[in-house]
Amino acid sequence: MIVKSTNKCSLNDGDILFLEGEASDCAYIVESGQLSVTTVVNYQTVELGILREGDIVGEMGIIDQAPRTATVTATGTTYLIAITRDSLADRLSDVDPIILFIVKTLLERYRSGLDSVRGKQKADVSYSMTTSVSVGKMRLEAELKDALENNRLEISYQPLLNIQTNTVAGFEALARWNHPVRGPILPEEFIALAEETSLIVPIGEYIFQQSCLELINLGKAAGRDDLFMSINVSARQILATDFLQRIAQICLRSGVRCEQIAIEITETMGTPLDVLNHWVKRCRMLGFKISIDDFGTGYSGLSLLTKLTPDKVKIDKLFIANIKTDQAARQLLSSIAQMLNNQQIGVVVEGVESQYELDFIRDLGCDYAQGYLVGKPLSGLEAIALFE
Ligand code: C2E
Ligand code: CA
Ligand code: CA
Repeated sequence: MIVKSTNKCSLNDGDILFLEGEASDCAYIVESGQLSVTTVVNYQTVELGILREGDIVGEMGIIDQAPRTATVTATGTTYLIAITRDSLADRLSDVDPIILFIVKTLLERYRSGLDSVRGKQKADVSYSMTTSVSVGKMRLEAELKDALENNRLEISYQPLLNIQTNTVAGFEALARWNHPVRGPILPEEFIALAEETSLIVPIGEYIFQQSCLELINLGKAAGRDDLFMSINVSARQILATDFLQRIAQICLRSGVRCEQIAIEITETMGTPLDVLNHWVKRCRMLGFKISIDDFGTGYSGLSLLTKLTPDKVKIDKLFIANIKTDQAARQLLSSIAQMLNNQQIGVVVEGVESQYELDFIRDLGCDYAQGYLVGKPLSGLEAIALFE
């Protein structure tokens, strides 16, 4: 096959576009020329059809990764436009999930029909299983999209205490979804769902928008302009091209200085360190602060520290949980805090639930405490009431 440009290719008479059973990641539109589609039934090659200008071939290959179900050969010189699975995924990211589901179901049914004609019964079983799993997920996804569009996603604000001055220094924005039937859904569940479907990009922007507005309200209530807001971001948001420009604009429009925003990233996001490093540099240029979340729970903690030089590190709540009763846990927390202090990185301890724990981390010279002792995640109004 001769590839003319990134998405165009040409075949000569007799060239094979793909073989039955081959791996697939691409569909093709016939621009001109002709293709023959064949399969083997009872050891005999059978022609399933002829495709001409405007026809599409190999479309299953962009929906799932199952092998090709037929062989396609050019009869005469043929020009094709290739559509890769990745390029389609980009374009479909904004399509209504229900429409996508219908398309996927139709294609799966087509494949399942083809398999049963060939006497392969197994396909039917997996078809119904994947369908029932994805129906639930698709429905939840559609409901999440609906909640976003109708402002039914909420944000809680959990205070962070400046341990040395004993004053509220800022808040962490935590997303909340109160599902009309299922009740509150844990952010771990719906954020993961949003990440799978790119909904995380508009959801993330909404969270930035609301949190900036709330930060202005909180600043007014406190009579201060130095409060900060910590906002969680996920890998998918980092990879979205204009994410940083958009959130910088949100700050500008709402009157928040970028340095009042601490962007929380985790070491378990799976983003290659170089990509993360480049992104963090761009964040810094705009003025945003960087905080590493859940420190100590992933594998790359130390390399993240040396490479990214974050402004703050949040030691995961795991490390404070047993300090009252466990000498080794106290030792471990002390060592982590000391190492971060030596590097001049701001130290936040999460999950502070008792006075003993707060006193302990104050003695270690930690900077901020977050947890139920200081305050639970609060509604905007409750957070404002902290200053009144
Ligand atoms: P996280 O970023 O580690 O957030 C801290 C979690 O610890 C929050 O759970 C908070 O309610 C909980 N927490 C706070 N104080 C205490 C305490 O004293 N003890 C204990 N045991 N827990 C405490 P939440 O709100 O359920 O959020 C869970 C996770 O969901 C967050 O973990 C974060 O990873 C994710 N998440 C929440 N909102 C967002 C968001 O807007 N975007 C993204 N990407 N992720 C989010
Ligand atoms: Ca966080
Ligand atoms: Ca955390």
